[in-house]
Amino acid sequence: MATGTEATQAVLTVDLAAVVANWRALRARHPAGAVAAVVKADAYGLGAAPVARALRDAGCRSFFVAHLAEGLALRDALGPGPEIAVLNGFAPCAEADQAGLLPVLNALGDIEAHAAHARRRGAPVPAILHLDTGMARLGLDARELGVLAADHARLAGLALRCVMSHLACADEPEHPLNRLQAERFAAACARLPAGLPRSLPNSSGLFLGPEFASDLARPGCALYGINPTPGRPNPMRQAVTLEAPVLQVREVPAGATVGYGASARVERPSRIATVAAGYADGYLRALSNRGAVGSFAGRPVPLLGRVSMDLTTFDVTDLPEIRPGDRILLLGAAPGCTPDELAARAGTIGYEILTSLGARYRRVHRNG
Ligand SMILES: *Cc1c(COP(=O)(O)O)cnc(C)c1O
Repeated sequence: MATGTEATQAVLTVDLAAVVANWRALRARHPAGAVAAVVKADAYGLGAAPVARALRDAGCRSFFVAHLAEGLALRDALGPGPEIAVLNGFAPCAEADQAGLLPVLNALGDIEAHAAHARRRGAPVPAILHLDTGMARLGLDARELGVLAADHARLAGLALRCVMSHLACADEPEHPLNRLQAERFAAACARLPAGLPRSLPNSSGLFLGPEFASDLARPGCALYGINPTPGRPNPMRQAVTLEAPVLQVREVPAGATVGYGASARVERPSRIATVAAGYADGYLRALSNRGAVGSFAGRPVPLLGRVSMDLTTFDVTDLPEIRPGDRILLLGAAPGCTPDELAARAGTIGYEILTSLGARYRRVHRNG
């Protein structure tokens, strides 16, 4: 039995150079405007502070988070300078003022609250205005846009950095809603004060064509290696590697069952490697008995039986060299192990694989 934390803890390695390379590749696709980085949910599980610092050092000037608390923490990490916008918005407060955070104004009420705040402060309040063009989630709807279009004075005191909208189906290039949203967005912007910069595409939106370009793109997932063009080869670099140590290797006879529910039965005398990661670490239980694999020395290692909370079992009968202390790659660039491939097995999307990654790993950020 291996001893010491090093030997028994899984390691999550984030390649910051890959994230930066992905950001540069997306920037090259968007010559019409700038490219921000969406780092909400702790940069999709990769670590918002190191990721955002690496992108800042590469020249990224705008960051998006979801929550006020994420924005405050990111300001601490980045220092003054880069723009940090909060997608879910926030009520005016001294903390946000001091941190220089941009609220995303998602409704007339948000506009009113921040415009009133600007009057009280006697200084313009920078913000981003969000128009809903078909997502029906956040942002001014058509009725609210009409009210605003008829009375631009409602924006008095606000220093709008841009007007944004969000695409619902950008990962399906043929979906008719894409074009409709781009048209609605252009028409809506034409009813607002002239000259405001616009922000439209997410990761997949950057692959839809020039009519989806804008002054500020907002990619998230593609920075982290998720394929923004599902069904086509992934143009992004993998940024995450998760390796879990083998705690034990055991031999079981033909006919033995493995794990909870005895859901897997081996047909031949087998060797089973038990590794130190499970669904509590974001290695989803839904991967059980669905043909998922890990990887060792470039070879696939079949997952066997159910994923349990802290442990997962692999069939290493055909990999006799595997010993306790070796590390099996669970997530990374190896065939079958990318976030998108794991997601397909588990019936979810790569985003959920990354944002589910747990807190118990030793986290290593390389190439910062
Ligand atoms: C999460 C989010 C993004 C980033 O989307 P990806 O698909 O990860 O590129 C952009 N804009 C808004 C409003 C979002 O909520």
